Amino acid sequence: MGKLVFLSGAGLSAPSGLSTFRDNDGLWEQYDLDIVCNYQTWIKNFNLVHEFYNKRRLELRKVTPNKMHEKIAEISKRFEVINFTQNVDDLLERAGCENVIHLHGKLLELHCTNCNDITKLNLNDDLEFKFENCKKCQSKLIKPSVVFFGEQAPFYTDLYSTFYNLNEDDLVVIIGTSGAVININYLLRFAKSKNILINLEKNKYINEALFSHIIYKSCDECIDELEQIIQEWNS
Ligand SMILES: [Zn+2]
Repeated sequence: MGKLVFLSGAGLSAPSGLSTFRDNDGLWEQYDLDIVCNYQTWIKNFNLVHEFYNKRRLELRKVTPNKMHEKIAEISKRFEVINFTQNVDDLLERAGCENVIHLHGKLLELHCTNCNDITKLNLNDDLEFKFENCKKCQSKLIKPSVVFFGEQAPFYTDLYSTFYNLNEDDLVVIIGTSGAVININYLLRFAKSKNILINLEKNKYINEALFSHIIYKSCDECIDELEQIIQEWNS
C-alpha cells in the first residue's frame, strides 16, 4: 500500500467563499499586493500590512469547510496521507485534518522576526493584531506568519523531497491550483506515482500528460469521482 499525497491551492477553499488575489474582490482590490505581500518592504509598510491581515483573518469567521475539505479529512483517517496546501486558511484543520503542511504559512499565526516566538490566534478569540511588542523579547517586528513574495518558504524542501521520492504505488492528488506559483510539471517530472488533477478548468501551466485522471469541476462537486479513483488505486 502506497501513500496518498495531496497538494491543494486556492481552488480548494473557493467553494467555501474565500476569495484570492486573482478574484479581484473587495478586500484584495483595496490593497496593493506589492505592499501587503512584499518581504522587502513589509516593515516600511508595517501598519498597512497588519491592517490587511487583520481583515483577512476576520473573513475566516464567515466561512466553513466545504465537502472537499471534509473528504480530505475523511481520507486522511483511512490512509497514510501527506497533506500539502498553499492555502493560509484553517479550513482543512476545521474539517478534521491533522498535520497539514502549510507551504505558504498560516493566517492564524503571528511570529516575532527577532526571537521567532509564535502567537497562535483563535477563531473565537480576538483575531486582530493589536500592534503590541513581542511578549518574550519586546521587539516591535511581529509579522503575520504568511510567506510573502521574496521570502523563503521553509516547507518547500519537504515538498520537493516528497515528490522526488514518490513510488509506483503512491497516489498524488493535485487540487485547485493553477500551477502558476508552484510548478506542478517540475514537481511531477520524475514521478512514478499515479496522479490525479482536480481543477475548475484547464490552464496553460499544467501538462495534462502527467495525469492518469483529470477532473475539471469545482472541487466540491467531484467527491464521488475522487472516492472511486481512490478505491481503484487501493484495490
Ligand atoms: Zn520576540
